[in-house]
Amino acid sequence: MYYVKEAYVRCIEAAGGIPLLVPPLQAEGDIQEILKSVDGVLLPGGVDIDPVHFGEEPREGLGRVEPSWDRLELAAARYALVRDLPILGICRGAQVLNVAAGGSLYQDISSETRGECLQHSQKAPRWYATHSIKIERESLLEKMLGMQAVRVNSHHHQAVKMPAPGFRATAVSADGIIECIESEHHRFACGVQWHPELMVEHYPEQMEIFRHLVRCAAEAK
Ligand code: MN
Repeated sequence: MYYVKEAYVRCIEAAGGIPLLVPPLQAEGDIQEILKSVDGVLLPGGVDIDPVHFGEEPREGLGRVEPSWDRLELAAARYALVRDLPILGICRGAQVLNVAAGGSLYQDISSETRGECLQHSQKAPRWYATHSIKIERESLLEKMLGMQAVRVNSHHHQAVKMPAPGFRATAVSADGIIECIESEHHRFACGVQWHPELMVEHYPEQMEIFRHLVRCAAEAK
């Protein structure tokens, strides 16, 4: 069974976009054929990324990996980056975007930071904002959310380690974990480590992230 969680679909719809779900196909060329018909890409959350894609062996703390999703999403990210198609990565999607552009990840934050990190796999309700992030001035994220600090939910044990060349970290949590990356060379290539699609009902400003993606996609037509 292939599926995408409903909240992503609803947020793209609510932002004025038309969501199209792309299945993990075998051939990169076939994935590209489907992507020819879209104006923007959203990379959703999911399982861990195979560290082979950023040149590392699997560490003890690595969780489940799924080669077919890696293939699909890395291909989609590369497709969007090459064509400057607007792309938003959420959680795993932010990590996929970073890896596709040549960056690296923590395979497991708590073991690679010797446990000196916040609780990034929250036990609170999934929508609830549990930790704060500091947002860089003049960043796209600041423009979208209209603030320099915000609280976000957290459902990840991996994170961006080294932002890809041409990308910069524009938000960090109090323990220094990167919570947002933005490309300096694309119209809109952004990855957020939290799950705005689960927050929008209680924190309406999070909708701006989806509105921005859809707006940029409409302009790209
Ligand atoms: Mn977090």
